[in-house]
Amino acid sequence: MKALDELTFDNRFARLGDAFSTHVLPEPLDAPRLVVASDAAMALLDLDPAVAETPVFAELFGGHKLWAEAEPRAMVYSGHQFGGYTPQLGDGRGLLLGEVYNAAGEHWDLHLKGAGMTPYSRMGDGRAVLRSSIREFLASEALHALGIPSSRALCVIGSDTPVWREKQERGAMVLRTAHSHIRFGHFEYFYYTKKPEQQALLAEHVLNLHYPECREQPEPYLAMFREIVERNAELIAKWQAYGFCHGVMNTDNMSILGITFDFGPFAFLDDFDAHFICNHSDHEGRYSFSNQVPIGQWNLSALAQALTPFISVDALKEALGLYLPLYQANYLDLMRRRLGLTTAEDDDQHLVERLLKLMQNSGVDYTLFFRRLGDESAALAVARLRDDFVDLAGFDAWAEQYKARVARDGEYSEEQRRARMHAVNPLYILRNYLAQNAIAAAESGDYSEVRRLHEVLSKPFEEQAGMEQYAQRPPDWGKHLEISCSS
Ligand code: AMP
Ligand code: MG
Repeated sequence: MKALDELTFDNRFARLGDAFSTHVLPEPLDAPRLVVASDAAMALLDLDPAVAETPVFAELFGGHKLWAEAEPRAMVYSGHQFGGYTPQLGDGRGLLLGEVYNAAGEHWDLHLKGAGMTPYSRMGDGRAVLRSSIREFLASEALHALGIPSSRALCVIGSDTPVWREKQERGAMVLRTAHSHIRFGHFEYFYYTKKPEQQALLAEHVLNLHYPECREQPEPYLAMFREIVERNAELIAKWQAYGFCHGVMNTDNMSILGITFDFGPFAFLDDFDAHFICNHSDHEGRYSFSNQVPIGQWNLSALAQALTPFISVDALKEALGLYLPLYQANYLDLMRRRLGLTTAEDDDQHLVERLLKLMQNSGVDYTLFFRRLGDESAALAVARLRDDFVDLAGFDAWAEQYKARVARDGEYSEEQRRARMHAVNPLYILRNYLAQNAIAAAESGDYSEVRRLHEVLSKPFEEQAGMEQYAQRPPDWGKHLEISCSS
């Protein structure tokens, strides 16, 4: 366990030089204070969780103090936003403070979001508000607990600094960590600005640090791209299986590591709705729930375009062709498990599709349906869940098919079925209204609800005593919350 001044820095991205990032110091927040910290994320850095409560913690992550070995940098990148290319983006309000490594030798970026203006702030103020910082913190840690790859969050620091959005709010910072903050948009930036040397340096950096096993392949860059395609197919399969809607799948928000990254107006589905759009400025539904699958491929093809100086177009196309079959295989595998099946049959895809079709427009809670399905035997569970559906005849037909499929799957006790299903079907997810309740309390200075919610969501598959209120369907007011995309 380390104290704060014992972190070991190795700022590899900063060493790439000024073409990649600009030195910028954080702008401190007024009266910084700890809102919430993640013990699990602190453990990644070998940090003793007790240090979160010390004043120096809030000073460090509220922009007042800096380690002598830190090298705060704003990174430059670009990206396709809602399908159109924006030539220059970059860390407009986040700073890569440095990279630290733990006792196991793993490197972690310390990225402070909301740290003030940078050369890439464009029209923005460089700040992040408390509301969006809490949402990012909760989502990163909740996704991780669900087994969905994500950037992590160490803490949220609140403050008295006024920040103007639709109304006056308070500034906050979230300390985000990941093995890398390199996005698809980093490659696009050097490709479209025609800087082949820097682009090659970036590609080498990513290959050496994050895909070293690809070095062994005859075409290392191609092997790396294939790996990125695979990781994204797996990631998006998990989003779809668990009902996570990212909301802003621009290529500058896509991680080169295939992890969930850059949280905005994201949402988990409450009632199942394939066409759900969580970002209310996404008028055409480009990033609707079901569109995440083809958009994943679209984004990978934008990255492929940027890699054409290194890899032949034919090879890139072939690698891109892996995406959809891999996505489908991963998704089906997860959905089989969510249904409690241990074997594979050809018709399983159809079984899943029919179920989702019945759920659509029925007002069935996506998370609780699967949880309840595992509570008891298939026959008892479907009989109990039946009333939630509108098309009862349709559901009965599905239920017969499901029961027959479960019978063919093997002989398992109710106990075995429950244990297996509850291990993959969460009871607690980050519902928008739960986040909203925690944010409202935090905005009035009470951080206990954010902390409790974080705690509950860190064990989403385990029923926790006294936490029933977190495992409910949302109340009417909480069903169609408009989450502001300003952050
Ligand atoms: P996002 O929508 O958060 O992914 O951000 C898109 C781009 O806008 C990135 O380059 C951000 O750094 C930048 N940006 C977002 N909000 C702000 C802000 N308040 N101040 C400065 N830049 C911002
Ligand atoms: Mg972004």
